[in-house]
Amino acid sequence: MRIARAVRSEAGQGEGRALFERIGAFLVDQRLDPTPTHYAFAHRLFTDPDDTLARAVELITDRGVRITPRDIQTLTADERTEERAESDVDLKARAEGLVARTQMQVEGFADMVTAMRAETVGFGRDLAASAEAISSASDAPQADDIARITAAMLERVRVAEEKLETTTREANDLRQKLEEARDNARRDPLTQLPNRRAFEEAFAAQESAGGRMCIAVCDIDHFKSVNDRFGHAVGDRVLRVIADALSQSCRGHLVTRYGGEEFAILFTGVSLERAQLVLEGARATVQAKRYKLRDNDEPLGAITFSAGLTPVAPGEMHQTAFHRADRLLYAAKNAGRNQIQIGEGGGKNRR
Ligand code: GH3
Ligand code: MG
Ligand code: MG
Repeated sequence: MRIARAVRSEAGQGEGRALFERIGAFLVDQRLDPTPTHYAFAHRLFTDPDDTLARAVELITDRGVRITPRDIQTLTADERTEERAESDVDLKARAEGLVARTQMQVEGFADMVTAMRAETVGFGRDLAASAEAISSASDAPQADDIARITAAMLERVRVAEEKLETTTREANDLRQKLEEARDNARRDPLTQLPNRRAFEEAFAAQESAGGRMCIAVCDIDHFKSVNDRFGHAVGDRVLRVIADALSQSCRGHLVTRYGGEEFAILFTGVSLERAQLVLEGARATVQAKRYKLRDNDEPLGAITFSAGLTPVAPGEMHQTAFHRADRLLYAAKNAGRNQIQIGEGGGKNRR
């Protein structure tokens, strides 16, 4: 479908009505329910046809495939993540600014104390010399006064040094906490795997370095039934076991918990064939495991996953490549699960 052309032809006529009709026709053609989400999605396609979203939709519909509600969810979810990422960047910048300022204060304080100390040492020496001169002039009470003042000044320096030490310790604690927070924001607490944000950042870093990549999206088969039969806690444990199995089988590549019971793997620096071999090994390992209940050794039955695997074309957007892997995953589900579907982007996906 040529979205850009569809809009241009509206010029001159009742534009509002034409837009409304086009949106309606799009929803009917694509067999999408007229929900506010779908309407807003279509509205955006026809009002901003040069947008990346419209291009992503063209890529799908050009192949004669209909847009599904799931497509809309994934395409707009990517955008929401970008928005979130932006505000995260702001937060991060603010936190870093705070730490930098704290650090400057600490350093400023340290300089101040050092200068004060140097001054007092000199001053103290002068005082001592004067004290001696005065006392040799046999005016003892004045010498006592000077000694008292010197002692008071040295005491002030000691207190300032103590304060400096405390402030330095606090600044270091703060820096460490910030680093922990940064790490937590990129880690899934249940499986301890890197999360979706870590995946996206790694993709961007690898892309700008120009390295080759393949993306795999893996989804546990009939996982809902594990929860339904054995409870959520057992489901959680299965997720952890699978996370470990994937990490071990795909060592050297980035295994992430992308969300729910979905894992995304970023294979870097290897061919599609090599990535396939590694992922096939992971699939066989997960399938071969014998899962049992802790309490009574009751077997849970086989647990398997399906996956879509695709190479990323040079310069290709994360959104496009990930979406292709996701489509392949659903093809794997439809073809009977416990398998990997592999596919490359068409010519249009390459730049
Ligand atoms: P399919 O083979 O089509 O993928 O079937 P499925 O049952 O795996 O898929 P569905 O999307 O219907 O269900 C996914 C389930 O994963 C539902 C949800 O409760 C469960 N799930 C997602 N995240 C977690 C989690 O953190 N812990 C547990 N225990 N379950 C989770
Ligand atoms: Mg799923
Ligand atoms: Mg599933």
